[in-house]
Amino acid sequence: MQCIPSDTLQEFVEKARPFSRKGTVPHYIPALAKAEQTDLSVALYTKEGCVSAGDVSKRFTLQSVSKIITLALAIDDLGRTKVFEKVGMEPTGDPFNSIAKLENQTPSKPLNPMINAGALTVTHLIQGMNNEEKLERILQLVRKMANNDRITVNEYVAKSEFETANLNRSLCYFLKEHKVIDGDIEELLNLYTNQCAIELNCIDLAHIGYVLANDGINPYNGEIILSKDITRIVTTFMVTCGMYNESGEFAIKVGIPAKSGVSGAVLSSIPEKMGIGVYGPALNEKGNSIAGVRLLQSLSNQLQLNIF
Ligand code: GLU
Repeated sequence: MQCIPSDTLQEFVEKARPFSRKGTVPHYIPALAKAEQTDLSVALYTKEGCVSAGDVSKRFTLQSVSKIITLALAIDDLGRTKVFEKVGMEPTGDPFNSIAKLENQTPSKPLNPMINAGALTVTHLIQGMNNEEKLERILQLVRKMANNDRITVNEYVAKSEFETANLNRSLCYFLKEHKVIDGDIEELLNLYTNQCAIELNCIDLAHIGYVLANDGINPYNGEIILSKDITRIVTTFMVTCGMYNESGEFAIKVGIPAKSGVSGAVLSSIPEKMGIGVYGPALNEKGNSIAGVRLLQSLSNQLQLNIF
């Protein structure tokens, strides 16, 4: 399906764009620091079709948005009981890459799958003979949800993160010490950095959101991609933990299930209504797209999307 540029949506983009100057692109993953600070694009899928604004040809990596994909896949593989034996369901209030709660809590189990410790644990649960097969399964799910077979990994970004992922390495060693995970840590980091480097555009992202909004079914061909139960779990985590330690404020001000990534991606899903994909690489101090959050806030107000 074609995504039609919308003048009305473009006005929302132009109003939000100036906020990008107040944010910063992330520097801890060198490849992401090359992003264009003032980029801002959006796409929106509803039953009427797809509309977009901004430069939708700009591609970006999923980063933390991939955490909802791997969570869905792990639950599908092992069932929710096994997955939640290893990772909790509670928001932390800490930054996404914090190690603090692993040290303070007994047993040392990551509090939720949206923080890095939890996401690394979930990636460790993905089934497959080897990393290649596991990554292919993650990619297949992304492609189905985005309705785009061409989606692949940006290897430059994956390598850039792998080489500098010392904090994530320490989280893994901590998790291994406490028997939350086992096996080869470099292998796990390799898979994790590849899943984070899956590259798409905001139209693909909006379609993923729309599938979630439609109970895990592709609205255009009726294919069941995720069960209703898995979709509900994923969407609930988006509300409680999807915007890092800004999730509470985002729920009050914007009121829609959303998951952000440090690339500036924000995936939103409004149950039974729409999927929204936003890309704006300048981040606020919590790691969320600064202009993207503004844009979602004004869209939510204007279109009365708040689910609460
Ligand atoms: N690849 C990133 C990391 O592990 C993902 C974090 C994010 O997008 O919040 O640091």
